[in-house]
Amino acid sequence: MQKVWKKDSKNLLKINSLVFAVFLIGISIVVALLVMIFVRTPPSYYEYTGFTLGTYCRIVVSSKKGSKNLAEIIFNELDRVYKKFDPNNPSSVVSKINSSDDWIDLDEESFVLIDAAMKFSQITEGAFDPALGNLIKLWGFDRIAEKVPTKVPSQSEIDEILKHCGVVRVELDSRTRRIKLNDGVKLDLGGIAKGYALDRAYQIAKEIDPKCTGFIEAGGDIRILGPKFGSRPWVIGVRDPRKSDSAIGYLYLTEGAVATSGDYERYFIVDGVRYHHIFDPKTGYPSRGAQSVTVIARDATTADVLSTAGFVKAQEWEYVVLEYPRLGGSVLLVDGDGTIHRSPSFSVYERPR
Ligand code: ADP
Ligand code: MG
Repeated sequence: MQKVWKKDSKNLLKINSLVFAVFLIGISIVVALLVMIFVRTPPSYYEYTGFTLGTYCRIVVSSKKGSKNLAEIIFNELDRVYKKFDPNNPSSVVSKINSSDDWIDLDEESFVLIDAAMKFSQITEGAFDPALGNLIKLWGFDRIAEKVPTKVPSQSEIDEILKHCGVVRVELDSRTRRIKLNDGVKLDLGGIAKGYALDRAYQIAKEIDPKCTGFIEAGGDIRILGPKFGSRPWVIGVRDPRKSDSAIGYLYLTEGAVATSGDYERYFIVDGVRYHHIFDPKTGYPSRGAQSVTVIARDATTADVLSTAGFVKAQEWEYVVLEYPRLGGSVLLVDGDGTIHRSPSFSVYERPR
């Protein structure tokens, strides 16, 4: 009996060691899996900088489908949109439209963009106007690559040119997808093209890799591709309009877009008065009342348009900060004195979440 028991206890010891070994291996596998799941190495970001849309563009992207390749595709899309709608490019769609006083057939993309610009003009009560080409040229702000102008046009020149400006002189036929410019009006899509280009580039990037993250920046306007490392917000400084190297605040964005219109990008000063590139379609003069307007929206087109429109309407800043969220944009407006006004919904993005 004794002997048998001894043999059994030896076997039992063997079995116990085996179970223990299996248990250890199991635990190791579970731990390894947990480490793989929770402590994944963060994705690395590829950064690409290039000049298009009349400004420096920065693409910061991470994609399992190849970050470098995706960054190049994004840049090419920004450049495609720029060339297509640049009024100074003789082969652009805008040049073709501007050089004719007859009906012009539009491709689908051009129709959709111009139609959107016309609708934005309506909802911003004319503050945003994509048909100010002649006025912008008169002031000399039409050639982005060249130096800023230095001369203020006369009142009679401005009065005269306003007769050849404005969306009321644009006919857009959605049935036949055609456009006709009356009274020698010229389109200038400079207040929407950058935002649209960012949105197109975003769409193309997401079609290639829906999980890509990062952001695209064009001259201060930003379209978020996805949160940093898949979950963290991107921290974006809002520039002090009077101090280029300091920020008046920080935004924490994981999605959507932000755009800023300011009087510090392109301007000249005569007799102590600052003349910049964003015009009040009613007066024909650079709009007064703001140093900068920053807008956060779901897409870059809306942010771009509403920052320009909010800048034009800055003298009615209460209306802008309270009503623009209804149009799709949260606003931070720095008025002429440097006082900051903001939509209640804007503050949400000024806190880390
Ligand atoms: P930026 O391009 O410097 O970021 P904006 O987005 O505000 O600034 O766009 C300004 C451009 O929009 C001008 O250079 C001009 O081409 C055009 N623009 C100027 N005034 C208006 C306006 N009232 N409505 C629409 N577009 C405008
Ligand atoms: Mg803008």
